[in-house]
Amino acid sequence: HMLQVHQIPCLSDNYGYLIHDDDSGMTATIDTPEVAPINEALKQKGWRLTHILNTHHHFDHAGGNLELKEQWDCTIIGSGPDADRIPGIDTKVDDGDEFLFGDHSVKVFDVSGHTIGHIAFHFADSDILFSGDALFSLGCGRLFEGTPAQMWQSLSKLIKLPDSTIVYCAHEYTQANAAFALSVEPENEALQARSKEIDELRASGKPTVPSLLGLEKATNPFLRPTSPDLQRNLGLQGADLTEVFAETRRRKDNF
Ligand code: ZN
Ligand code: FE
Repeated sequence: HMLQVHQIPCLSDNYGYLIHDDDSGMTATIDTPEVAPINEALKQKGWRLTHILNTHHHFDHAGGNLELKEQWDCTIIGSGPDADRIPGIDTKVDDGDEFLFGDHSVKVFDVSGHTIGHIAFHFADSDILFSGDALFSLGCGRLFEGTPAQMWQSLSKLIKLPDSTIVYCAHEYTQANAAFALSVEPENEALQARSKEIDELRASGKPTVPSLLGLEKATNPFLRPTSPDLQRNLGLQGADLTEVFAETRRRKDNF
């Protein structure tokens, strides 16, 4: 049996997600950006919230934790190393840990960089990754706490997942990310095509999230420091991959 994912627009540009296992009846919300739309979705689906899986401590990800826990008596799973900043945390997990959601194994990746202690959740049997603010469609999270080297190390873990992985990130930033991506790798044909699709989706009010990891690898500049075109455009031919990544991130910060 497949897991069901229900995507919930929250706040101005966040996505919340419910993930539901029919066999066990378990339902988790990935982060708690906004309580009302999460509760509305639960009501509409007829699902009972059993878990909160937090990617990181920012308010638009963990701000609804305590209210939802109070209402649903659900279990909050979050980063052990960042437990002090995860309101109401019950179960502490860290890089490489696996836990069961019904019969489905969930693997935890530490993807520090945007924050220290940011984690991602991989549901391998369903090819689903919840990447929070670490990996975005065509982008990556701003480095508020970590170093470029740390973020590159984090993203390198996600790159190893199968191309068929469905990436559910936490924000609708894709159109702005595409403009930046084209500025640093204008000759990338897959990126050109994707940028057109993104414009069409946004013009008709549709989400650009989720995306496939294979497509991210082909088009997201933050996963492409090995690209000779990107390296040349940055003036960093043959440079260390961390350096290429760092320069890409620096340019995005100033774009
Ligand atoms: Zn954040
Ligand atoms: Fe966020």
